[in-house]
Amino acid sequence: MPPLTTLPPRAVIREVGLRDGLQSIQTILPTAQKIAWIDQAHAAGLREIEVGSFVPARLLPQLADTAELLAHAKTLPGLCASVLVPNLRGAEAALAGDADLMLLPLSASHAHSLANLRKTPDEVVAELGRIRAARDASGRKTLIEGGVGTAFGCTLQGEVKPAEVLRLMQALLDAGADRVSLADTVGYADPASVSRLFEQALRLAGERFWCGHFHDTRGLALANVYASLQLGVNRFDASLAGIGGCPHAPGASGNAASEDLAFLLEAGGVATGIDLPQLLALRGQVTGWLAGEATHGSLHRAGLPKTFHPAGALPR
Ligand code: ZN
Repeated sequence: MPPLTTLPPRAVIREVGLRDGLQSIQTILPTAQKIAWIDQAHAAGLREIEVGSFVPARLLPQLADTAELLAHAKTLPGLCASVLVPNLRGAEAALAGDADLMLLPLSASHAHSLANLRKTPDEVVAELGRIRAARDASGRKTLIEGGVGTAFGCTLQGEVKPAEVLRLMQALLDAGADRVSLADTVGYADPASVSRLFEQALRLAGERFWCGHFHDTRGLALANVYASLQLGVNRFDASLAGIGGCPHAPGASGNAASEDLAFLLEAGGVATGIDLPQLLALRGQVTGWLAGEATHGSLHRAGLPKTFHPAGALPR
């Protein structure tokens, strides 16, 4: 028999529904509802929330209030407020708002990179270098995360070679990224490919490896989380009710549902600090606001098992 795997004692769920989720759907949530979402996610125990993206409002009117949401998130105790920034201009807005972390996405697929960001991957690496210089000159403590997306393949290009993913990850680190992460943007990954690529990425980035981001397009997001969890990865992006998609990936669904991921982790003894009944209540509220939009996830249908104990409540 193979040796038993030890899971990390704790893991962080970063809620990205307000960015990755809302950017892909038609409904534009009013700022007051987004603030209520952030407040109640914080009350339920979430301590990392990606509140939006500093992209021009004409491109993504759904996220036009990102500066206001960031200012609000900064008032909540213990909350790491992060934003996505597509370029230096966005990073300047993130620095002005004193974001705790800014994520610069890079597509390892050249075709997806050109379609989505209008830059080659290496041009994005160069932009990260300029963002690092701006951050250092600003005196802010805002962490810079370089997120390598389409890491397992891409709808436009097809195959994305692991060697290219790792080359770009190393280039981001060399250009000054404080953190790097891997994203299966279109749901092409499976647990075996996750194990292979994450093992190499962890060897390359060490302590600077930050986060796994899995879309549930083909139903494997939680299995992929588990495969990376077994390697010691302890931070995952997730979207409440699994909302989201990708404009360049037909049929793509959102990230792992936050509430299902919290259940997976807590049930397995991995503490998240999240109060699941509160998170499920928030899910009910947010899906009510998003009537008519596709939502995902399983836990909400049947609720928690009667035998469920949160990780913190387990005798250890
Ligand atoms: Zn995503």
